[in-house]
Amino acid sequence: MNLPPFREWVAEIGASFYVCARCGRAEWSGVALFCPSCSWLLLEYEAPSERARSWEHGFLTRWLFDWTLDSDSTVGAAVRALKSGARRLAWRSLAAHWGARALDSEVIRPVFVPSPSRDGVRDHAFAFAEELASVWGGRLELCLGFPMEASAKPQKKLGAAARRKRILIAKYFPKLAARETLVFVDDVITTGSTARAAHSALGRPSDFVAWALASRPKVVKFGEF
Ligand SMILES: [Zn+2]
Repeated sequence: MNLPPFREWVAEIGASFYVCARCGRAEWSGVALFCPSCSWLLLEYEAPSERARSWEHGFLTRWLFDWTLDSDSTVGAAVRALKSGARRLAWRSLAAHWGARALDSEVIRPVFVPSPSRDGVRDHAFAFAEELASVWGGRLELCLGFPMEASAKPQKKLGAAARRKRILIAKYFPKLAARETLVFVDDVITTGSTARAAHSALGRPSDFVAWALASRPKVVKFGEF
């Protein structure tokens, strides 16, 4: 028998052990998010493949799961777990699931643009984008950011409503080859304002779509998120 060295063995166990984020059951394999029975529940809230939102300027947003009041204990639990911990395997599995469902079959050559994080840390949107890129074989472009605090000073006078509009800037404009599509990646879509800000920061390109893990309409208010 060919046993791996002890250190590797311990590391492997550490990587494959997790607690189900929905029911708390300890698990030893899987996607590092939900136990098998909770994973089946999650699949009940998959958005139908034809479901998409179209924004002005014509770009589409698609998502994997519908986050509603009914699905808060399942989809909400998944999102909260993904946002709070480094469940990289779960992102990988969800990216593979996205690929398997072929939600956006018109996207032939995706170029993934993750939603930027305020503090510059590579967060959940980055993890999702990176795993999508590895599943699809597309590249990542970290071309979006927030305006510098100094240059954003006048925004302070705009009030809360205006600040919520989430102004994004393009740090550079990715060059697209033939048949490439910019895919803006975020974890949750609510009002769509971040996707619209990304689209407009990048000059409102026609080859642009937005993908999110979950769609949570604004009316759904509870859940620590
Ligand atoms: Zn469970």
